[in-house]
Amino acid sequence: MNEKDIEIINNLHYELEQNIDNGKGPFLAAIYDEGGNLLSKAQNSVIKDNCSMCHAEVNAIMQAQKELRTYDLSPYNATIYVTAEPCMMCLGAILWSGIKRICFSVSSETVEKITGFDEGYKPDWINQFKKRGIAVRPYVLSKAGERVLNLYMKKNGTIYSPNRD
Ligand SMILES: [Zn+2]
Repeated sequence: MNEKDIEIINNLHYELEQNIDNGKGPFLAAIYDEGGNLLSKAQNSVIKDNCSMCHAEVNAIMQAQKELRTYDLSPYNATIYVTAEPCMMCLGAILWSGIKRICFSVSSETVEKITGFDEGYKPDWINQFKKRGIAVRPYVLSKAGERVLNLYMKKNGTIYSPNRD
């Protein structure tokens, strides 16, 4: 049990709650290097940036790579912390980024149940990532994460899914 993981996810939940209170998006991601130094932190900015790809994970990866002037984060042995299980698109982005470890809170199944977002088709992804040398620690403080997502719904947060009718 890595206590640092719990501390970071707990802090992200706290910050996310503040964001939601301020009318911002319902997801947060942060990237830390091996030594526990923060490389980047970003929130979902789909609505603000009018860009369906601006999920928290993608924003955090772009920020870290730009800051460090590299397209490959592997020398940093970085972990990405996310308040919810990454969607299909973000898993692809993480795979290409050189990040070595994923630690997340709420499961996609729960995100879909609470918000109605479609997280995509991701069969056996945790094992597929492990095979590629990317470790995964799922469901850290997931009950607390659910509570924050419920808060977003209660505040009438926008569900920005595309219309597939
Ligand atoms: Zn995503």
